[in-house]
Amino acid sequence: MAFKSGFVSIIGAPNVGKSTLLNALLQQKIAITSTKPQTTRHKIKGILNLPEMQLIFIDTPGIHEASIEYNKYLVKLAVETLQEVDVILFMIEPFPWGLSEGKKIISTYLSQVKVPCILLINKVDKIAKPQLLPIIEEFNKLYPFKATLPISAKKQAGLEDVLKEIAAYLPEGPRYYPEGLITDITERQLIAEIIREKAIEYTKEEVPYSIATVVEEYREIPEKKMVYIGAVIYVEKDSQKGIIIGKKGKMIKDIGQMSRKEIENLLGCKVYLELFVRVKPHWRRDPRTWAELGLKQ
Ligand code: GDP
Ligand code: MG
Repeated sequence: MAFKSGFVSIIGAPNVGKSTLLNALLQQKIAITSTKPQTTRHKIKGILNLPEMQLIFIDTPGIHEASIEYNKYLVKLAVETLQEVDVILFMIEPFPWGLSEGKKIISTYLSQVKVPCILLINKVDKIAKPQLLPIIEEFNKLYPFKATLPISAKKQAGLEDVLKEIAAYLPEGPRYYPEGLITDITERQLIAEIIREKAIEYTKEEVPYSIATVVEEYREIPEKKMVYIGAVIYVEKDSQKGIIIGKKGKMIKDIGQMSRKEIENLLGCKVYLELFVRVKPHWRRDPRTWAELGLKQ
């Protein structure tokens, strides 16, 4: 049988289990390499090497982000990215909020896309089987999915079927990337994302959407066997800066501590993390600042 390869995008509302599935398929939390991206527009999240095929999972920036101008750019980018993959895995969870968010994604993004799309209903460990049928029917009326697969990413159930189904729509192709390579997100980007995640976790209302994070300095200190990281949390208003810093600096300290733990896990060494908060008014409205903040490829 001929070797197959291609690009796969996993999309869906926040928290439905996309990262869990990716990690389960790759059998590890994505390992880090700092190789440069070999394709210009795709951000690779992970590469799965099997004897008969190579799957390149790519990130679709923008599905489900904030409002205003930046969002329009993200929707456009997301739809463009989706057009260029070989297979889309569209994930929902069988609970009311997840279902309604899923419908929104179908109408905003998927309805414009012609790529083969597989519906994954995740977290089926949490519901009874009879509840599945109406969901399967309802979603298959909204979009012509090529297949519908109930899975549990967490319990690693149904994943073989996911791979089989992907293979059915994957073209013949070469191994694009060497077998050892697992991702092309740089360490700096991953660290910035970790900090952003923590900052979002600790804030409410409009603040999370106004946050952008950039690692400005990354320096190894061999004699102390540690890494110094200087990172900036950007927000749009002074009031938001106040929120991020918190009373007597408590918030920023918490964000820093949580981030540092995770970064130390990632890098496998001690980390000295210094966080700065800066205001960049209306950065979401201004395309020129997106590249500066590492948001535009
Ligand atoms: P993402 O935002 O779509 O990437 O979602 P995550 O992968 O971060 O998962 C969100 C939450 O759902 C986490 O707490 C996961 O442990 C949980 N989760 C993911 N898959 C499953 C599943 O199959 N069953 C259950 N019960 N929980 C899951
Ligand atoms: Mg995720």
